[in-house]
Amino acid sequence: MKSYRKELWFDVPKRRMFINITPQVNECLKESGIKEGLVLVNAMHITASVFINDDESGLHGDFERWLEKLAPEKPYSQYAHNGYEDNADAHLKRTIMGREVVVAVTNGKLDFGPWEQIFYGEFDGMRRKRVLVKIIGE
Ligand code: ZN
Repeated sequence: MKSYRKELWFDVPKRRMFINITPQVNECLKESGIKEGLVLVNAMHITASVFINDDESGLHGDFERWLEKLAPEKPYSQYAHNGYEDNADAHLKRTIMGREVVVAVTNGKLDFGPWEQIFYGEFDGMRRKRVLVKIIGE
């Protein structure tokens, strides 16, 4: 069995953003040489997510508004976590959107369903953060 590991770095210039990282994950898969197996992609921070959905800007706006209803950023004082920090909402948003995705690798390709794309979801940006890509297989 082959194994491959890579960290993808992001420095998002605002607090919240969704980034389609499918091209980077495809690059990793090519580099790994693995044809049959599994790809794990996970955020290495507890205020960011990796999730799979449609690359459609209307939907991304819907996610932003939905997450703000569930866990509004402000007022910061509404959260017990916000003593020295102001990112309680980011922890909650990350929990809703998830930590990681696993995608099957078939014939050297990401074996997606229709419209599936992999996204990095940043909820407390403006600093360098990482995503782990781990691929196992043959
Ligand atoms: Zn925090």
